[in-house]
Amino acid sequence: MLGGEGCKTGLKGQHETEIWPKLPRETPERILTCGLAMRVENFRRVLGGTVARLRGRVLCLFLLAAMPLPAQAPGLSEMYARIRAEETSNSKIMWIIHEIADVYGPRITGTPSLKAADDWAVNTMTSWGLTNAHLEPWTFQPSSAATPVPGWENMELLAEAVTPFHGQLMVKPLAWTPSTKGVVTAQVVIIDPPGYALPPGGGFNFFGGPPPFPEPKWAAPPMPERAKPAEPKQPTAAELDAYLNSVKDKVHGAIVFVGKHVEVAEEMNPAPMRRSEDDWKSRFDAKNPRPMRFPEPPKLAEGQLTRAEVSRQVDQFLVDNGALVRINDAGRAHGVIIAQGNNTFDWTRAIPTLVMRNEDYGRISRFLGDGTPVTLRVNIQNKEYPEGTTAYNAIGEIPGTDKKDEVVMLGGHYDSWHDATGATDNGIGSSMMLEAVRILSALHVQPRRTIRIALWSGEEEGLLGSLAYVQQHFGSFENQKPEYAKLDAYFNVDSGTGKPRGAGVFGPPGAADMVREALIPFADWGFMGAAASGSRRTGGTDSTSFNNAGLPGIGLAQDAFDYGSFTHHTNLDTYERIYEEDVREGAVEIASAVYALAMADQMVPRFEAEKMPKPAPEPGPGSEAKPVRHVPAN
Ligand SMILES: [Zn+2]
Repeated sequence: MLGGEGCKTGLKGQHETEIWPKLPRETPERILTCGLAMRVENFRRVLGGTVARLRGRVLCLFLLAAMPLPAQAPGLSEMYARIRAEETSNSKIMWIIHEIADVYGPRITGTPSLKAADDWAVNTMTSWGLTNAHLEPWTFQPSSAATPVPGWENMELLAEAVTPFHGQLMVKPLAWTPSTKGVVTAQVVIIDPPGYALPPGGGFNFFGGPPPFPEPKWAAPPMPERAKPAEPKQPTAAELDAYLNSVKDKVHGAIVFVGKHVEVAEEMNPAPMRRSEDDWKSRFDAKNPRPMRFPEPPKLAEGQLTRAEVSRQVDQFLVDNGALVRINDAGRAHGVIIAQGNNTFDWTRAIPTLVMRNEDYGRISRFLGDGTPVTLRVNIQNKEYPEGTTAYNAIGEIPGTDKKDEVVMLGGHYDSWHDATGATDNGIGSSMMLEAVRILSALHVQPRRTIRIALWSGEEEGLLGSLAYVQQHFGSFENQKPEYAKLDAYFNVDSGTGKPRGAGVFGPPGAADMVREALIPFADWGFMGAAASGSRRTGGTDSTSFNNAGLPGIGLAQDAFDYGSFTHHTNLDTYERIYEEDVREGAVEIASAVYALAMADQMVPRFEAEKMPKPAPEPGPGSEAKPVRHVPAN
């Protein structure tokens, strides 16, 4: 049978003479075979298996000639094969991610690094022959910030123990917090405010693993049974004040550890790199989809403070009482650190703040538990960039022909956190999109509709760049601008290094049908289906900014790899965690699907006016759009 494993183009490259790995070149004949296999697979499905007994290329060609492609212009499947061939022979995707992550990373919104990455994208797209490559400005003011926010960057960082042991401590600074006054040396105190404890295990891996294995029924270990950790109860403002007053005298001139050391449980059932085929199939079952959901934050009683609110009040308390440095426990195993930002984005409302790896935080906490004083030496020098209050989205186009005023968009967020180079979140999503338009440009395609790529900024602070773009260009269903009717669809990728396994499409079932038809030729690479969604809540990633406006946002779903466990927003988010095979397939799939939509007779169907879901007043779980929640956005 044609197809299957033999058609995979994703093989690790050869490094002998090339700096950049390249795939072994395939002969045109071999590539054509792959294209045919893909189409035969498709038609077998269409004909309910009646072609299964047909063998041989001549018969396939005969069959293909006899069968019109459904709602697709002639030559579409040939174009799919040419897109695969271009990626097979001339891939630039590992060079692109090298530039984005190694050269320009990290790319935190408002910094010169992100601006340089933006300029690089515009120049690079122009060099590939894209038109109208430019930057579109927007004002960087997250919903929890009182004023537009300048860029922030850490320039110097030192954290070491002086007594009772000496040595380097692994830390990352929290963004939008101030510098220390030079090198400071001081004793450590621990405070444990109510409502600040992390859930057991740190609680950040919301991508989930498989159901746990049943534990064998061994005899009990030689220890008393562990008490179940108490459900953390969130305090009222008065309860928090009472606690903070009781520790007021301890913090002046001290380095303050905030929160008890997190005892991270051993992970007996680590999340798998890939979900099973059955799992993907059921998630994107057209009739009964099972969409991914972020965990809902716990419901609070009237007057109770969220963990983020507790943390903000602790910041103010430390400012008011002259503490020198705040240190938080990273709360994750294996040295994983997530340090995001000060939620107020106001340097004057926090003291210099670090997040310390769980193992160092634990060692120091145990010394203090013995009654042994611990002295640390810390130097944090951060820099402010006033020009960062203006941020940019990078845009480029492949012009359309007879329907050039209609637009098929693709994109992803380009900004990152600062703890590493932002390779998997979302340098590689941006790279897949850039590689997709590079392929199309290299093939000199002449799509009917204009194809437009957008690399967003401000996603990590609440989808800000894409929300601004949608507002500026399209408005919303309730308040439409002229361009509103002209957007066909927007493809987004933002969950790490995996290839697309399914697509969530905002719109009626017919919208998902059209996207599925464009992508199902990649069933031989594991693309499992598309499902329609009617949710207008923002959350997770930039496709929801389009959904929120009632426009056809398409969120591509990916296997987790190390994303939830090790790289998402962490100090380990680097080039090394990119899985080349998948991202090359991803670029091909996206280029093909975008091209198919740009050539189709009809645009992706939208909800009829009377069936358009109501706009969502609140962001969904996973969003930081407003208000800021503890569960991080993608
Ligand atoms: Zn992301």
